[in-house]
Amino acid sequence: MRFDIITVLPQLLESPFGHSILQRAQKKELVEVHVHNLRDYSTNKHKSVDDYPYGGGSGMVMQIEPFASCIEKLQNERQYDEVIYMTPDGVTLNQEIANELSSSQNIIILCGHYKGIDQRIRDVFVTKELSIGDYVLSGGELPAAILVDAIARLLPGVLSDETSALSDSFQDGLLDAPIYTRPAIWRGHVVPPILLSGHEAKINAWRDDQQLKRTQERRPDLLND
Ligand code: SAH
Repeated sequence: MRFDIITVLPQLLESPFGHSILQRAQKKELVEVHVHNLRDYSTNKHKSVDDYPYGGGSGMVMQIEPFASCIEKLQNERQYDEVIYMTPDGVTLNQEIANELSSSQNIIILCGHYKGIDQRIRDVFVTKELSIGDYVLSGGELPAAILVDAIARLLPGVLSDETSALSDSFQDGLLDAPIYTRPAIWRGHVVPPILLSGHEAKINAWRDDQQLKRTQERRPDLLND
């Protein structure tokens, strides 16, 4: 799967994809992440990509043309399933959306800055608008990295144990069960004995029960859904 991320701050996206699972996924050619510097598409001699808002008010607005020429260049090279704008007024990202997007081949992600991007980019090019939560960040790069991570780890072969993404929180509408590793006793705190019993069916039943309890306590809204 291929991601093309358009940003004024490509440096911000170097680290999130340069380590661990996402780095390995790229080495294994399961995931490609291409970061495009929006300023390279500016025709302005100062390479600026923003301007004052029509109607006045605070903050700068990202202009149409650099985004348009980068998106159109990419779309001439291959077919894209989605052009996604990361924005606080988008639909809140959740596991279901990540699952759906993981069946795509090619996705473009637009990162905003300042006040955001000219509405006409959204009207003309954007097919999906996603938020990572009800708070405002200074740019779309971290949200874009979150989106890529959430999708990429679902692709076959990316996680070493393919079943592990399926047993994570939200996949079955429930939160995950508590987890433990050695030592079995730490400062008097013991691991639930059932996990040491070796009895797989009982362990699974315990985990199911814990998932339900945890979801009831912490996220009853998930059970109502
Ligand atoms: N004026 C906008 C906020 C702009 S923040 C508003 O009030 O809705 C600048 C950029 O950061 C946005 O264009 C977006 O790309 C990114 N951003 C900020 N918060 C975000 C969030 N919660 N989810 C996704 N992207 C976000």
